Amino acid sequence: MGDERILRARVIRKQSPDVEMYIQDQIADGIKELLTEKGLYQKTVINPSKLTEYSKSNKLYESENYSTSDLKIEFSKRPWLPECQYVDIHSSARRPSLRPLITDSISDPSQLPLYFHLPTLELWCGRCKRHTAQLPSPASICDLPDSKFPHSTEEAIHQQFNIFYLCESCRLLPVQYLVLRDGYKLMLCGRTEPNQKKVDDIVPDDLRNILSDALSAVSEGDIHAGIYHIRTFCEHYMKKTLQLSYDTQVRGDELADHYSSTLTLQQRETAPSLKSAYDKLSQLMHSRCGNADDFKHQMSEIIRHLKLKELLTKR
Ligand SMILES: [Zn+2]
Repeated sequence: MGDERILRARVIRKQSPDVEMYIQDQIADGIKELLTEKGLYQKTVINPSKLTEYSKSNKLYESENYSTSDLKIEFSKRPWLPECQYVDIHSSARRPSLRPLITDSISDPSQLPLYFHLPTLELWCGRCKRHTAQLPSPASICDLPDSKFPHSTEEAIHQQFNIFYLCESCRLLPVQYLVLRDGYKLMLCGRTEPNQKKVDDIVPDDLRNILSDALSAVSEGDIHAGIYHIRTFCEHYMKKTLQLSYDTQVRGDELADHYSSTLTLQQRETAPSLKSAYDKLSQLMHSRCGNADDFKHQMSEIIRHLKLKELLTKR
């Protein structure tokens, strides 16, 4: 059975399949962002911005009594149930603990469960020591019995998801993720193994951990630690290029000038300056300033420097 048919089989409200499919996909995208990019206690917000265009194209919501705003509130309050699309959809192993109401009545749409599929993800495997394709396990459930979840308020529903992913390469033990939901917000509250961040292939093997640490720190909201780590990367990369040991005592500006002198004129004129990145990062580190955009920009400049330097070396 194709993915689309499985997903459609779980659309309960026949009056609005396009809207339900849209929200299902948004939730799956949110789960992907949360588990691959975010660190502990960080949030992803599901954005239902296109509900307006879906509601306009659907007769159900042309009623004056049911506006786009009502639709946004409805999906914020409906229970979401994780589904694994790679196994028999009737498997009891992944039957949700929350009992869905089998109805398509719209008298109280906030009671209708909305199934969403767990996507295949590329995640770090601690056993394979690399990023691997990982599949969601049918053991994934939501709202354990007696856990007080789901908990509904006037504005939204609160839920707890226990999601399992299994590495397709080693297939040993799944990694478990604890995700809390508050309306459209998803927060990563637990993970049974660290998720090392993926670093661009251009980065030398022995320096990859430094940038991975930088990305991990920022994914958990510690921008200052991220800036410290990528500044350290610049320093180590320049020392490596100059064949200096990493514990060599040298002034930063002298190190950067010395490194720049090893570049060709074309490399200096074309590639972003590593010296500029190092100076900026030093300033941010010493003043304990900088935000996520500063981090992203400097990381991007460093990677571009490495790539263009290599490209221009080969010519
Ligand atoms: Zn593995």
